[in-house]
Amino acid sequence: MHPFHTIIEPFRIKSVETWKFTTRDERVAALARARHNVFQLAAEDVLIDLLTDSGTGAMSSAQWGALINSDESYAGSRSFYRFEAVVRDLTGFTHIIPTHQGRAAERILFHTILHPGQIVPNNNHFDTTRANIEVEDAEARDLVIAEGRQPSVIHPFKGNIDLAALEALLDRDGDRVPLVMVTVTNNSGGGQPVSLANLRGVRALCDRYKKPFFLDACRFAENAWFIKQREEGQADRTPKAIAREVFGLADGCTMSAKKDGLANIGGFLAMNSDEWAEQCRNLLILTEGFPTYGGLAGYDLEAIARGLEEVVEEPYLRYRIRSTAYLAEKIAAADVPIIQPPGGHAVYIDARSMLPHIPPLQYPGIALLNALYVEAGVRGVEIGTVMFGRQPDGSERPAEMDLVRLAIPRRVYTQSHIDYVAEAVIYVAKMREQLRGYRITSAPKVLRHFTAAFDPL
Ligand SMILES: *Cc1c(COP(=O)(O)O)cnc(C)c1O
Repeated sequence: MHPFHTIIEPFRIKSVETWKFTTRDERVAALARARHNVFQLAAEDVLIDLLTDSGTGAMSSAQWGALINSDESYAGSRSFYRFEAVVRDLTGFTHIIPTHQGRAAERILFHTILHPGQIVPNNNHFDTTRANIEVEDAEARDLVIAEGRQPSVIHPFKGNIDLAALEALLDRDGDRVPLVMVTVTNNSGGGQPVSLANLRGVRALCDRYKKPFFLDACRFAENAWFIKQREEGQADRTPKAIAREVFGLADGCTMSAKKDGLANIGGFLAMNSDEWAEQCRNLLILTEGFPTYGGLAGYDLEAIARGLEEVVEEPYLRYRIRSTAYLAEKIAAADVPIIQPPGGHAVYIDARSMLPHIPPLQYPGIALLNALYVEAGVRGVEIGTVMFGRQPDGSERPAEMDLVRLAIPRRVYTQSHIDYVAEAVIYVAKMREQLRGYRITSAPKVLRHFTAAFDPL
């Protein structure tokens, strides 16, 4: 190839957005106004926003161009047919149902098919997935492999589901399992990939026990890139060919186009079952809209269609995964404990082991998050006891891990932004002994992390 090792951004910047700097005092005041919950900050008060990679990416000039060429017809819009063709070419699924985002696809699927007392297995359920299952009085059961629960253990596919545990569940309680899900990549477990071999294993079990297999496909392209890099015999295939094989193993998927759709809004539900699709479309009309727009504008459908084509391009995926690894390497070299190896869309700091003096029920993740914001204006998100610790009976217990996720928006920040973030994390790590825990002063029953209020201890 060529003699250079630097992996540069595979794009040029055509339009820029000027951003505000804040002082430390301003950030202390802003955080107090937000009742110490970074979800409640005004984004303008955040310098580098790593809260999420969801809907925060930069669209390409080709996507912006497609927006102008959209068809805003209520029914049968040309933009829907283009969207449907791209999704079908990629996934092979029969029914393509647009939704305004991923959780709408989840809610429509689960409200349609779930009954109280049923169990939905997954490697790790994402927070909205879990909430949409629990609201139907069903159980969301996490069956990720043991390696996936240990932050420092290196394994190429830490997102794999434990096939033996899945088989045991299907064997013992199969009549309570309406479908099997796998999340690629495994967001709540650290953005970790799932191997083709593992997905084939799930397919075989689903065939044996006659269960439908659905993917939570939000980061299917990043997962395909990891398969290409790490799985035997996959190096010479294109990410798109791998992604197609992965979708081909499943019977349907839920998708947030705000991730690997490279769009700012949107999602879809796709499946092969005619019966389920008909019921889902009926609910879609009730809450999202007519089946050829599903809560989206024609221009959103255009942006997603183009985004799904761009996201499987090799130069994009090489740069994407490399820039996440670059941040991880920098902070790991300074002995900040992170989930190893780094995932695709984010670096996950192990706040529990970084702050051993703060017990899980005093939320070490919140302590680290808030310090990063106050010291450097960097916003991340807690994935830990605040997000997952509340039990359906109202009690609270420590989540499996207390992580702080720094999610990297797609195509938004340059290398110097990322260098600054690394410096900020290392700065806060050096003052770790001064950090204190928090207590919750008010919180709703479901998805409490978005609106909970905290007091420092
Ligand atoms: C973001 C996400 C969802 C939900 O999608 P939204 O578009 O935010 O509603 C579901 N599952 C996973 C794995 C996600 O990352």
